[in-house]
Formats: sequence, C-alpha cells, structure tokens
Amino acid sequence: MDRNDEVYKVGLALHGHKCPAMPLGLRAGLAAMQALGVSHAPDGQLTALVEIDRNHCSTCFADGIQVTTGCTFGKGNIRSLGYGKFGLTLIDNKTGRSVRVVATPEAMRRSQQSEFIQYRRKGVPASQVDPALVEPLIDQVLSEKTEVLFNVEPVKEIKVPAMAPHAFDTIMCAECGEVTVERYARVKHGRIVCIPCAEKM
Ligand SMILES: [Zn+2]
Ligand SMILES: [Zn+2]
Repeated sequence: MDRNDEVYKVGLALHGHKCPAMPLGLRAGLAAMQALGVSHAPDGQLTALVEIDRNHCSTCFADGIQVTTGCTFGKGNIRSLGYGKFGLTLIDNKTGRSVRVVATPEAMRRSQQSEFIQYRRKGVPASQVDPALVEPLIDQVLSEKTEVLFNVEPVKEIKVPAMAPHAFDTIMCAECGEVTVERYARVKHGRIVCIPCAEKM
C-alpha cells in the first residue's frame, strides 16, 4: 500500500493529521483480518479490542484499526483495554475465532527514534510538523512486510459473549427535554428523567 491507496486516504480524512501510528493501525487491522479470513465489517460482525489507553504515544493506532476493520466507536464494536500497548485482538463474532496482532519492538522503535517524535515530545502538534519528516515514516509503515511490523499470534476459538439486542425505544427527559434511550431513563421523585438530570435532582 502507498499514500495513493484509497484506504490510506480514508484514514487520513478521518484522522486529520499525518503520523505513522494511524497507518500502523490500518496495517494491524488488515493483518488481523487476513489471519481470520474476514473482511471489513459492514455491521457488527467483528469486535476489536485495542490495547492502547489515552494520553500516550501512538494512540492514533486505533483510528487506523477503525478504518480497515469497520469496528467503530459509532457501531460500538471497538473497545480500549487500557494497557498502553500496541496490540489488537480481532474477534469474528459469528465463529468465535480471534487473533491478536501486536506491533514488533522494531516497528515501534523506528517511529520513536524519528525526528517527528522529537517534535511531538516538545509538544508540537502532529499537524504542525514538516510533512517531509513524517511522510518517509508513513511510506515505510504502508509498504513494510507484515511480519516486520507485527507478531501475529495463532488464531484461537473463544466464547463470544451474547450482545444485548439493539434498543430503539426512547423517552423525552422530563427535566431537560432531551431524547434518551429508554433503558437509560431513571425515575426520580416520580418523574422520568435522563441520568445527568437524575444525578442533579
Ligand atoms: Zn496521529
Ligand atoms: Zn435530562
């Protein structure tokens, strides 16, 4: 893959700046999908468990994963495990087959020793760094062999927990007037209200 590939362009449009971690996420998603023999999830066919937390390097990894796997915040089929690691477990919800893909120390070292990261450490936003410093890193991630970027663990069979059925019924909060999914409504002093209003009453 290179920067002219549609997948990279979609990733960049979603993500907003040029960095090596978002493309690494694109590749992690693709590597996991290839190991499982599945394609991008139009609905909730796949679940992604991402090991990043927040406020640390390379959390942008998760945006690339959303683009290639179709596991998205909006569909609710991606979760952060909060380990501060660059691993992805992808689960095929239908078959219960799952695979864990983790970035190799080599893949992480390249970006961490780059001039791009020196600017990021000084607090320069990624969008303000000279593209000439970051584009070679992106090109390397997009074109590198999968086995150099990731350790792909053997595919396992797991028991996929049953998902709650989708709720479509809503109420209007008696306090703030905003629409709330029924399951989240609370009764406070005899009135049906949303959670934030219930907490204030
Ligand atoms: Zn980024
Ligand atoms: Zn309310």
